[in-house]
Amino acid sequence: MIDLRSDTVTRPTPGMRQAIASAEVGDDVYGDDPTTRALEEEVADLLGKEAAIFTTTGVMANQLAIAVQTRHGDDVIVGEGAHIMWNEAGAGAALSGVQFAVAGQDGFLTADDVEGAIKPPAKWLPRTSLVCIENTLNRAGGRVFPQANVLAIAERIAPHGFGFHLDGARLWNASAATGISVKELAAPFHTTSVCFSKGLGAPVGSALTGPAALIQEARRLRQRWGGGMRQSGILTAAARYALAHHRTRLVEDHANARHLAELLSGPAPRAAGIFVDAHKVETNIVNVDLDVAAAPVAEAARGLGLLITATAARRLRAVTHLDVSRAQIDEAAIILRRAAEACRAGHA
Ligand SMILES: *Cc1c(COP(=O)(O)O)cnc(C)c1O
Repeated sequence: MIDLRSDTVTRPTPGMRQAIASAEVGDDVYGDDPTTRALEEEVADLLGKEAAIFTTTGVMANQLAIAVQTRHGDDVIVGEGAHIMWNEAGAGAALSGVQFAVAGQDGFLTADDVEGAIKPPAKWLPRTSLVCIENTLNRAGGRVFPQANVLAIAERIAPHGFGFHLDGARLWNASAATGISVKELAAPFHTTSVCFSKGLGAPVGSALTGPAALIQEARRLRQRWGGGMRQSGILTAAARYALAHHRTRLVEDHANARHLAELLSGPAPRAAGIFVDAHKVETNIVNVDLDVAAAPVAEAARGLGLLITATAARRLRAVTHLDVSRAQIDEAAIILRRAAEACRAGHA
């Protein structure tokens, strides 16, 4: 099976399993796990923040960021399709009591978009307190959020004293694609979350970084939410290994995604009824639009040995990662074409 459903499907490599097996551990709830402490220091350093906290998931890291920077009833400004609003099971409302104000297009936001979404300080309006940006943008197909916009938004919201959070689940990819360091990409934000279990290939874990006082409060909430872990060095050893060994290879995933986009969009052999905008493929995600329903095409592809996700009525999403080779990408393009053609023929 070629699995392009997500970059979360990777399995630990032999080297990573070795690192897990030999990890030095202690009870992290007591602050005693040396591997976890080392990871947290390393990540805080990498992102240029005072402190970091290891979390079970990216959802937990994002939701801790919201919880420590808002009050119940507040408005959080997000882009269209934000993971924080769509894919976190309503946690913003359930755990922090916030509501979302959506601005911009496709996840992209300008300073004017953000300004237009700010609620004035009237007593009958919700209080705007936090702005969240995603980089890379998941639903927009792994596109990079322009850093010029980040800087302009930071400047515009500074006088209001709002929190500014970066959902950097794929910040490593944004950095690999642009050549801009993750430190520079994260600099304008108060808090930034990053993920180890996507393109980096670790089995579990994310981190939230930010000012020491906020991260200290996040530690209390992580405990409250049942996210305090004991010998977490077993997990953070994998994350440290991923940081050391799997960051520089992300450009291969990007080249594979571009290759898939070109195979599916090029003049020959162009797949009838398949539309891919290769110019929008900036990192490891390819949005594939169809002229037939996507779910049956995904089902047909599964029968031919390819796993791929239907993300909308007529859209599939393919994600490249360290467990998929160039040869498998060639194969995936052939399968996808066959599956789409079979479904179109069935339709006709
Ligand atoms: C995957 C993802 C997350 C969180 O992922 P978990 O599955 O909770 O680790 C957060 N933000 C974005 C943009 C993502 O793609």
